Amino acid sequence: MQNTNAHYPAITYLSAPEMIRLVRRLGLPACIAGIAERIEHEFLRWNEFDKSARIACHSPVGVIELMPIADAEQYAFKYVNGHPSNWQFKLPTVMAFGVLADVQTGVPRLLSELTLTTAIRTAATSAVAARALARRNSRRMALIGNGAQSEFQALAFRDLVGIREVQLYDIDRAASEKLAANLRDQGLLVRLSDSVADAVRGADIVTTVTADKTNAIILTPEMVEPGMHINAVGGDCPGKTELARGVIEAASVFVEFEPQSRIEGEIQQMPADFEVTELWRVLAGATPGRRSDEEVTLFDSVGFALEDFAALGFMHEQALALGMGERLELLPETTDPKNLFGLLNAPQEVSTASS
Ligand code: NAD
Repeated sequence: MQNTNAHYPAITYLSAPEMIRLVRRLGLPACIAGIAERIEHEFLRWNEFDKSARIACHSPVGVIELMPIADAEQYAFKYVNGHPSNWQFKLPTVMAFGVLADVQTGVPRLLSELTLTTAIRTAATSAVAARALARRNSRRMALIGNGAQSEFQALAFRDLVGIREVQLYDIDRAASEKLAANLRDQGLLVRLSDSVADAVRGADIVTTVTADKTNAIILTPEMVEPGMHINAVGGDCPGKTELARGVIEAASVFVEFEPQSRIEGEIQQMPADFEVTELWRVLAGATPGRRSDEEVTLFDSVGFALEDFAALGFMHEQALALGMGERLELLPETTDPKNLFGLLNAPQEVSTASS
């Protein structure tokens, strides 16, 4: 049924197939760059947001999380899971969707897929952090964990940081071969490694983006070279980390939203008073990032709601500008908002379908 009420709110629905069409139309590099710019912009408005650590429901095999955030005008939330053994069911480790709504009325404006968008926004966030923290002339990156997120990480670092070489390692050789094949003709020199130590040797930047619900030790202190920037993405919930404690101790550590990172990040291994700096302070010029070419910097990424707020806003605007997305009839239409009950007594549409 078409809405007849002129006040009926316009709600856009971006399904996964429509999001794929939107990203293909805009081009992935433009999406990564656009979302990175938006993330930087929103991080500079840090104090305008009502922020909270995400709400997590844990099970022995995974986690399901809700990530809310709002400024004075818009509210956003993301539903996201993390189930590292989902490959057994031919399902991704991470799946997500989200909503953008008006604070003034509570009306949802966008319901969107966020699985693909999360990969883009995570890579964009990593690259924004590395641009602020890694050595200026960083060209070589080790990429440990070659699953769903990895291509996005490689391309974001190529475009926004200037990475030209990537050295890959995954315990699943097929995942590394998949990544190498997807990166063919992307202007990156790609090399497969036989071990983490081999992949990391000589790298300017080390990205760890593995999935395992355990306190894994992917990177040990002996592997870390002076001046490296570590982009630790895979450790993102309690009991799920990637770095040996000595790596964290040897680095200057930067986080997204400290109260959430203390619970979920690599720094869950550290005492509550271990010094960390929120990334937004570096972006705002309030705190220096890297202080020397020898310093080891660590971006302890867990994923923060503000990044999804930025990504939802970007995708919504692009979809509207291109006339993409479906109109979603999510709310009951009524001209008498106090008579919700009356909708149940309204004359029903005659169905022409045979039963
Ligand atoms: P995925 O399951 O598609 O890929 C993970 C890869 O890690 C797999 O190929 C697996 O073989 C590999 N792996 C597991 N243990 C390893 C080890 N010890 N050494 C080397 N490789 C190993 O998952 P994904 O979607 O690519 O996500 C990767 C990780 O990033 C997950 O832990 C996820 O929760 C996390 N993540 C974080 C953010 C964030 O914002 N920080 C966002 C998205 C995903």
